[in-house]
Amino acid sequence: QSRGLGDVYKRQPLMSAVKPRAIRGMNDILPEVSGTWRHLETVVRDIVQSYGYEEIRLPLLEHTELFKRSIGEVTDIVEKEMYTFADRNGESLTLRPEATASVVRAGITNGMLHNQRQKLWTSGPMFRYEKPQKGRYRQFYQFDVEALGFDGPDVDAELIIMCARMWRALGLSRLELEINSLGTAESRARYREKLVEYFSSVKSRLDEDSIRRLEQNPLRILDSKNPDMQEIVAAAPVMIDFLDEESAEHFQALKALLDAAGVAYTVNPRLVRGLDYYSRTVFEWVTDALGSQGAVCSGGRYDGLVEKLGGRPTPAIGWAMGIERLVALYEACGGEPPPTDADLYVVAVGDRTLEAAIAIAEKLRDDVAGIRVELNLGGGSFKSQLKRADKSNAEYALILGEKEIADGRAGLKPLRSAEDQTSVAFEELPARL
Ligand code: ATP
Ligand code: MG
Repeated sequence: QSRGLGDVYKRQPLMSAVKPRAIRGMNDILPEVSGTWRHLETVVRDIVQSYGYEEIRLPLLEHTELFKRSIGEVTDIVEKEMYTFADRNGESLTLRPEATASVVRAGITNGMLHNQRQKLWTSGPMFRYEKPQKGRYRQFYQFDVEALGFDGPDVDAELIIMCARMWRALGLSRLELEINSLGTAESRARYREKLVEYFSSVKSRLDEDSIRRLEQNPLRILDSKNPDMQEIVAAAPVMIDFLDEESAEHFQALKALLDAAGVAYTVNPRLVRGLDYYSRTVFEWVTDALGSQGAVCSGGRYDGLVEKLGGRPTPAIGWAMGIERLVALYEACGGEPPPTDADLYVVAVGDRTLEAAIAIAEKLRDDVAGIRVELNLGGGSFKSQLKRADKSNAEYALILGEKEIADGRAGLKPLRSAEDQTSVAFEELPARL
């Protein structure tokens, strides 16, 4: 029997606090890495914005039904990974496991799709009850881009080229692009028959999940993460042999655009993606640098989803990038966090020097663009303040004592070089800094 919190409290004296635990698979992003996160998110966001995409911010919760209908009932996410609960009104709500369904829902409920085209991005935490391991968490962050109302293949190519630009901007290597086409719903139906035929012929070797999916959703067997299934999956017929003519042309045109743009790819006929709503183009940027959690950015076209969720037929495509994996790859490629050290540490010693120190620090923040000024907090002797200044990694200490304030001049002491301390008039400080 698991030990409930109540039991713990009973056995502990009242005053001794029980240390709180974090939830498994949910991480604190600590200051030593949050700078890297912000840097990557800024680069990604700026590039996406530069292609004309605009931000949409969405709730973390949606009606459970939305995800069942969009992602598909017979998928890993819906069958076993959703955080679902009844709210106080008895309504079934789910913490979003991905963003596309919410974007489409928002497009429909806000009337944004009727005779309009939308280029949108969003970002934030997603929740999936997966087995936590390196690169796989229960709360993880995605950056998500969706183009609604475009039938491609131009937009398909642009969304991929945009990723290539990000990898260059971030200095990332070891990323390879895999693409495939899943055709239309009709051509997939023909393929599905062939798949059922094939998997039925090897039924005795299928695992439990796959046997169940054989009837309900045979395509999902292809996405099985069970290593024992890999050989069977590898010998299955591939969708690309069953493409309808238009999908084949679409795929051909996409490949030609990528060739022209100099973006290398491999066609992976086994790439099916874990969600039901995809059609035609699917792609994945994968790396060998992160062990088995190699998919950094994945996406695809979902031409049928808007209609399925009650909107007018609207072609659409998008991708989602896993930020934890992006950060891990950035570090694996030698990427450094941007510097966060202060430029200037303000030391104030003596009677009534703090008021002047605050005023000068504020003035410098006004007048010197981008300067990082850290004011000594909590007083202390000259020596202990200088020690803190040194520990802060600031470039300079600004020294204010009673005499300096009376003279209207501050001591500017270089902390990282052998240069001498100089005396600078207050009004000359911005220019000097
Ligand atoms: P995987 O095959 O690794 O399970 P997925 O196909 O489930 O990935 P998507 O649903 O397409 O992934 O999500 C897009 C991106 O989000 C992935 O490429 C990956 O970078 C990231 N991602 C997905 N699930 C997780 C997770 N549990 N923890 C961390 N990142 C994740
Ligand atoms: Mg997954």
